[in-house]
Amino acid sequence: MPNVLVLPGDGIGLEITPEAVKVLQAVLKGHSTTLNFEYGLIGGAGIDEAGKALPDETLAAAQAADAILLGSVGGPKWDTLPAPQRPELGGLLALRKALGLFANIRPVKMLPMLVEASTLRTEVVKNVDLVVLRELTGGLYFGEKGRGTNPNSAFDTLVYTEEEIRRIVDLGFQMAAKRRGRLCSVDKANVLESSRFWREITLDIAKNYPEVELTHMYVDNAAMQLVRWPEQFDVIVTENMFGDILTDLASMLMGSIGMISSASLNGGKGLYEPAHGSAPDIAGKNIANPLATILSGALMLRYSFGLEHEAQMIEKAVERVLQEGYRTPDLAKSGDKVLGTREMGDAVVEALK
Ligand code: NAD
Repeated sequence: MPNVLVLPGDGIGLEITPEAVKVLQAVLKGHSTTLNFEYGLIGGAGIDEAGKALPDETLAAAQAADAILLGSVGGPKWDTLPAPQRPELGGLLALRKALGLFANIRPVKMLPMLVEASTLRTEVVKNVDLVVLRELTGGLYFGEKGRGTNPNSAFDTLVYTEEEIRRIVDLGFQMAAKRRGRLCSVDKANVLESSRFWREITLDIAKNYPEVELTHMYVDNAAMQLVRWPEQFDVIVTENMFGDILTDLASMLMGSIGMISSASLNGGKGLYEPAHGSAPDIAGKNIANPLATILSGALMLRYSFGLEHEAQMIEKAVERVLQEGYRTPDLAKSGDKVLGTREMGDAVVEALK
C-alpha cells in the first residue's frame, strides 16, 4: 500500500489538509489502490515541537514516502528567527531541496462558474487555461545570501547551472507538446546574466521540439500580459522567484489564491501543496478555502499514482460543488451558499457519490 506523508504545517494548513485527506479516502473507497496516510511536523510546528523547521524524522519519512501532501508553513510567531531557521527556508525550502523537487507545476484553468469571482472582466479571463512551470530548487532563493562586509548591506545571489536550466526547460517543452504547443520562457535577459544563460540553453533545447512554438518574455512584461490577455499563454516556464510571483498574480485570474493547486516533482517523488501560504489572518476560523489542497490531492493521484480517472473524479466533484453555488468566503458573492472549510470538504465528498 503506498504511503502518503501528510505535513499539515501551520495556520490554515491544519484545517485544509484534513479535507484533502478526506476526499482522497472517499475517492479511493473500495478501490484496489488504497493509500496509507502518515503524519509529520514541518515549519513552525516542527520548531515548536521538535526544535527545528524540518525535523530529522520528517525528512526521513519524506524520503521513504511515495508522495507528500503539504498544507502551508509560517506565521508571525516565527518571523523574528534568523532566516535559515524559519519555517519557510529551514522547513519547506529545505525539504524541496533535499528531495530534489525541481519542477513546480501550477495549473491555472478558469472554471466557467468562477468567471464572476475574478476581479478581472469576464472577456479577459473566461478562456484562461495555462500552466506555470516554476523552477523550484535553484535561483535567488537558494543562492549564497548574507550580510555584506559593510554592516549596512545584505545580498542574495541568483545562480543557475546548465543542468538545472535544461531539466526544467525540457519539461516545459514536453508539457507544451502535449497541450496547445506553445511555450513562453520568462526571464529578465535584458538585465540579468543568469537570464541570458537561461535563454541560450532554452534556444538550444528548442531544436529538439520543432513542433513547439517558443517565445521569450521579460518578467515585467509577463506580469502585465497575464492581466492584459492571459489567454495567450499555454505553458510558461520560468525561474524560481519569477514563478513564485507570477503564480500568485495568475491565481487571481481564477478569483482566489485558494483555488491554485501545485505539484512539485523530481521525476519520481512528488510533493503536493496549495500555492498559498498559511494565511494567519484567517487561521482557526474554519473559513479557509480547502479546494486548492483538495485539487493538489487530485494532482497526486495523477502524477504519483497514475490514477487519472480518480484525479478527474475529484476535479469534476469540485466543479459540481461550485456549479451548485457553494463557495467559501474568499469566492462568495451575494446569493452564493457560503460554506466553511470542513463543510466544503464534506460537499466535495458528497459530490463524489
Ligand atoms: P498567504 O497566501 O498565506 O495569504 C495571502 C492572503 O490570501 C491572505 O489574505 C489570506 O487570508 C488569503 N488566503 C490564502 N490562502 C487562502 C485560502 N485557502 N482561503 C482563503 N483565503 C486565503 O500569504 P502571506 O500572507 O503573504 O503569508 C502568510 C504566511 O505564509 C507567511 O509566514 C509566509 O511566509 C507563509 N507562506 C507559506 C507558503 C507555503 O507554505 N508554501 C507560501 C506563501 C507564504
